[in-house]
Amino acid sequence: MVKQIQVIRGMHDILPADMPAWNQLEDSYRLLAESYGYQQIRTPIVEKSALFHRGIGEVTDIVEKEMYSFEDRNGENLSLRPENTASVVRACLENSLLNDQQHRMWYCGPMFRHERPQKGRYRQFHQLGAEALGISGPAIEAELICLAKRFWKLLGLENIELEINSLGSSECRQRFRQTLVEYFHDHYDQLDADSQRRLESNPLRILDSKNPDIQDLIDQAPKLSESLSSESSEHFLILRDILDNSGVSYKVTPRLVRGLDYYSHTVFEWVTETLGAQGTVCAGGRYDGLIEQLGGKPNYAAGFAMGCERLISMIIDQGRLQKTADCDVYLLVRGDKTQPVAQKLAESLRDELPQLKLQVQTAGGSFKSQMRRADRSGAQLALILGESEVEAGTVAIKHLRAELEQIEIAQLQAGTKISEMLGI
Ligand code: ATP
Ligand code: MG
Repeated sequence: MVKQIQVIRGMHDILPADMPAWNQLEDSYRLLAESYGYQQIRTPIVEKSALFHRGIGEVTDIVEKEMYSFEDRNGENLSLRPENTASVVRACLENSLLNDQQHRMWYCGPMFRHERPQKGRYRQFHQLGAEALGISGPAIEAELICLAKRFWKLLGLENIELEINSLGSSECRQRFRQTLVEYFHDHYDQLDADSQRRLESNPLRILDSKNPDIQDLIDQAPKLSESLSSESSEHFLILRDILDNSGVSYKVTPRLVRGLDYYSHTVFEWVTETLGAQGTVCAGGRYDGLIEQLGGKPNYAAGFAMGCERLISMIIDQGRLQKTADCDVYLLVRGDKTQPVAQKLAESLRDELPQLKLQVQTAGGSFKSQMRRADRSGAQLALILGESEVEAGTVAIKHLRAELEQIEIAQLQAGTKISEMLGI
């Protein structure tokens, strides 16, 4: 036998049995995002690498070591997208969507990062996200936060806490950067190698370090809030006021700086302690600088991204998966010559009841094994078509989930009866 080819490490098949959870997540998100007036956007999965180098920043984990980059046959350097924000902004600029306009958009799809695979961290993973472009002020940030909060409620998820922080304007950040560099220089020997390297390239990221050995040093570090201008403080204050008024509880977390270069003012994360080490399920904030960085006129932008795999783990762990049946009605077919009539009956039922989920037994098998399949499908009703029913122009209907007597009915009336029995 030939050796089988396996899936790539860190990437996963989403099998039919996994789909109910994915559908529950994605369907709820689509309805919710659209109820807030967000429209879907889909961008290509492959982009020019330069988009991410410029958009995310050269000295971020993603660009330094996580991108799937390659040269295509024309020698052009391309990358599988590690996130979708830079692509959404590129698409809006390229299609002139940002001229004095506001856009609320949502997306859903796979992202790729070459990380060390572990629970909640994969090389192909999926994100649900939202981006609001062209809108200044804290109200839109609050809206994004409220949308996420409502999503947890809709999914029935508990124990997800909100952490927020303000990075201020780019001038505030510049000022803070200096203070921070001075502080860490004074404690240079206590830093790990990664942080020593970041001290030159991206000192804010040291605050984001997960190394337990330097946590005390980080806790003692100067706080960004002390470097905020009065305008930036005001922005943050208004956001907090809206959140307070909307009944959203949060914790202000000074060390929350986010990994990407493009954030300013508000940053936030929704985190849970129930998932172990990979506890962030949603992350976002304001990223006004990105539009200009990608060649547009200065403009406003805010958004977030959620990790689907982590949310699905929570849905399953918290027993929130809604059971769904493969079909409502399962049509059993008995006798060699019955199949064409069964197929015809099925098609006319589909004409009559377009919302009906109907599965037809197409490969014979004993009555007993067909019945077992019908039961496993989760169907409410079994239709039974044998040679005698074909001759009489009838079909038998058996309720699979209630102790009701089996009935026999004219095929022409089957649709009406099914719709009555299922209430559809
Ligand atoms: P982390 O600090 O966990 O690496 P990040 O800051 O790199 O997260 P973002 O780029 O903000 O993550 O992505 C938003 C969300 O997408 C994360 O909060 C997480 O839920 C999910 N996510 C990010 N990377 C992965 C991954 N490799 N596998 C699964 N989910 C991921
Ligand atoms: Mg990461």
